Amino acid sequence: MKKHNFSAGPSILPQEVLLKASEAVIDYNNTGLSLIEISHRSKDFVDIMEKARALVLELLGLEGKGYKALFLQGGASTQFLMVAMNLLEKRAGYLNTGAWSEKAIKEAQMLDDIYQVASSKDANFNYIPKGYTIPEDYDYFHCTSNNTIVGTQLKSFPNSPIPMVCDMSSDIFSRQLDFSQFGIIYAGAQKNMGPAGTTLVVVKEDILGKVSRKIPSIMDYKKHIGSGSMLNTPPVFAVYTSMLTLEWLKGLGGIAAVEEENEKKARLMYSEIDLNPLFKGFAAKEDRSYMNATFTLENENLKETFESMLKEAGISGVNGHRSVGGYRASMYNALPIDSVKALVEVMSELESKA
Ligand code: PLP
Repeated sequence: MKKHNFSAGPSILPQEVLLKASEAVIDYNNTGLSLIEISHRSKDFVDIMEKARALVLELLGLEGKGYKALFLQGGASTQFLMVAMNLLEKRAGYLNTGAWSEKAIKEAQMLDDIYQVASSKDANFNYIPKGYTIPEDYDYFHCTSNNTIVGTQLKSFPNSPIPMVCDMSSDIFSRQLDFSQFGIIYAGAQKNMGPAGTTLVVVKEDILGKVSRKIPSIMDYKKHIGSGSMLNTPPVFAVYTSMLTLEWLKGLGGIAAVEEENEKKARLMYSEIDLNPLFKGFAAKEDRSYMNATFTLENENLKETFESMLKEAGISGVNGHRSVGGYRASMYNALPIDSVKALVEVMSELESKA
């Protein structure tokens, strides 16, 4: 039986993507060679890279708007530093909404002064701060659109007077936004796009080249753009599989179509959390993430029964992060609504047993 996979990441990919990707590992496009043994400079792979980069801009509605898409390595964690290396001259403002924001702040602080425009640390990050001001004379403003661990999500973005940089690792391609409000968007592939190993960076070219520091080549967005995202050997399998997921998303009807489905899944999940007296949601209601629903079981004595029922129903990956405890149901793009129905059924069955 295929499991209902609620893992927070690396997470679920569409079945058809997995099939095509696995075929390519054996014989790519009837070339008699595996995708992972052909030259990244061959036409076959350059076409894949170019298609993936173009699909990103098309799906985000950023074609012809001065943006470039890059598939880099080192995870979103490398972007914490790379953003600062490329943009930080004197000071930057960061919105602190959780562990990932904190890590981004820590890395950028190695280079220069960082100012936290607001933080929700006072309440273990269970809400998104609002009503803060972004100083106009800073180099950039950084935020995390979806807080994977605590299950909060920015429902709207501030009108930033300076380039806005956003870590969208756990909700990229999940909802419609005006993506042109961002100067840089970055995301590790392994939630809504592909296998771990590549990181998507979408950068508006005209915000680059304004810092006085020397930037090592591998950290320099301009150099990556200049080399067509092939400054060094790219992670060919991760890029190819990401391209397949982007094609799948386009085939579904793009972000608008998947957003509708994501809303249905989230509504189903949160209505069970709210109506079932055995469970309690962790995040403030207005800031709840449509990707990661976090909740606790109020009666600890039912823990064992609940977990064995989950196992029986083929539900995996719902354990909460150690810093929050309880449970976390991650409902990324490729998770079918039937999986959410299966989880909700177990939760309501537990209520009838209790
Ligand atoms: N940012 C967010 C919001 C994440 O959820 C994660 C990982 O889960 C990261 C950054 C770190 O990504 P990576 O493991 O690709 O460095």
